[in-house]
Amino acid sequence: MSQENCIFCKIAAGEIPSKKVHEDDEFVAFHDINPAAPVHVLVIPRKHIETLSSCTEADAPLLGRMLSLTARLAGELGVAYTGGDTGFRTVINTGPGGGQEVYHIHAHILAGERPWRRMG
Ligand code: AMP
Ligand code: ZN
Repeated sequence: MSQENCIFCKIAAGEIPSKKVHEDDEFVAFHDINPAAPVHVLVIPRKHIETLSSCTEADAPLLGRMLSLTARLAGELGVAYTGGDTGFRTVINTGPGGGQEVYHIHAHILAGERPWRRMG
């Protein structure tokens, strides 16, 4: 999908409403519209990158910051791993084979009481 028609580019630009939990110069995070778990947040770069398979070594710093932001947001959402039964799942679906539906790279943060709905 091109950048012009990309729903996540539009969310990042504020052209489509979302329930944002974080916004900075490089990333936006918002609640998934169709949550598969009690906590289901998506973390996206503002830069339109279609898939994890589109990434090169040059994207490593961005991917690193995205993953570290994911952990920080999990903490802010109250679902970090702090021992016992706590913790969260991070998922990046890639291509039809990986169940990707929106072709703007995003990391899912999933957490909370089971059962969770199966994704993809
Ligand atoms: P994926 O299958 O990894 O591409 O996941 C795409 C996710 O985006 C799904 O979990 C959708 O529920 C979610 N989604 C699609 N449109 C929106 C939207 N407008 N706002 C928030 N989440 C969305
Ligand atoms: Zn996009």
